[in-house]
Amino acid sequence: MPDDSEKTEGTEKGERPGRPKKHLGQHFLQGGGIASKIIRTADIGKDDAIVEIGPGRGALTFQMAELAGSVIAIEIDHDIVESLKERAAPYPNLTIVEADALQFPYYKIETRFKVVANLPYYISTPILFRLIELRGMVVSMTVMLQKEVAKRVVASPDSKDYGMLSIAVQFYAIPTIAFNVSRKSFYPVPEVDSTVLKIIPREKVAVDVRNEGLFWGLIKSAFYYRRKMLFNSLSLSGYKKETIKSVLERSGIAPNKRPEDVSMEEWGKIADNLMEFMASQQRGMKF
Ligand code: SAM
Repeated sequence: MPDDSEKTEGTEKGERPGRPKKHLGQHFLQGGGIASKIIRTADIGKDDAIVEIGPGRGALTFQMAELAGSVIAIEIDHDIVESLKERAAPYPNLTIVEADALQFPYYKIETRFKVVANLPYYISTPILFRLIELRGMVVSMTVMLQKEVAKRVVASPDSKDYGMLSIAVQFYAIPTIAFNVSRKSFYPVPEVDSTVLKIIPREKVAVDVRNEGLFWGLIKSAFYYRRKMLFNSLSLSGYKKETIKSVLERSGIAPNKRPEDVSMEEWGKIADNLMEFMASQQRGMKF
């Protein structure tokens, strides 16, 4: 009998060889119903190139290979890759790649592609950020996420879920909730429910801002103290009180608003006025 408490190659302490690996977020879809629903949401045809992140035991992979022009499935777990490669033999349009999806060189893919994935929870946010960075290459993303994370992605101002993640995705893309998935649809059963989102990159960012670096710097600083009033959060982040006062006044934003109540358009206004303020200071002119 293997000792459960010992770590063997490819497993972490407490994981048994051949069993789902908790540390890799392995929760496999059971039955074909949810997989088919995800695939219908992704709207796959023969002209499509698909990138799947974390194919696992192939719940989505082989159905997609039947429908798509091509499928590249990126899986980090060596044991799973071995068995997937054997099963992929009848599908010349399916490539199984053993790699970390966070490190994978997507820019080498020659066509624009659709992403379809039941994402491992532990890296779902960094993967989303990575895919947003690649938005020029991505036609759409149909991704299953932890329900709480999905809520944050689609949240609007005035909601407790609204924050950096909402703005970071919605600035570059339009996310919509496709459907929710009960935790009971997986083996092993995770501690949380899931949601499938469809995310379509925008052709143009949601709000025209004069300096994106300054826009993101401002929002990051403000959300660092998200429960504080805007004036206080920006002042704690190092902006001069006089600057904040003038910039918020010019932007028509009440200094006692909280960062979580400021819309993307309002952040745009504040960032543009901050830039104007700094330029006028440099020129020695009145703001
Ligand atoms: N697609 C399968 C399904 O729906 O049943 C499996 C989904 S499971 C939630 C996530 C999969 O992602 C696992 O197979 C896991 O090994 C894989 N994975 C975890 N971390 C990864 C990474 N950094 N890069 C690529 N795959 C990863």
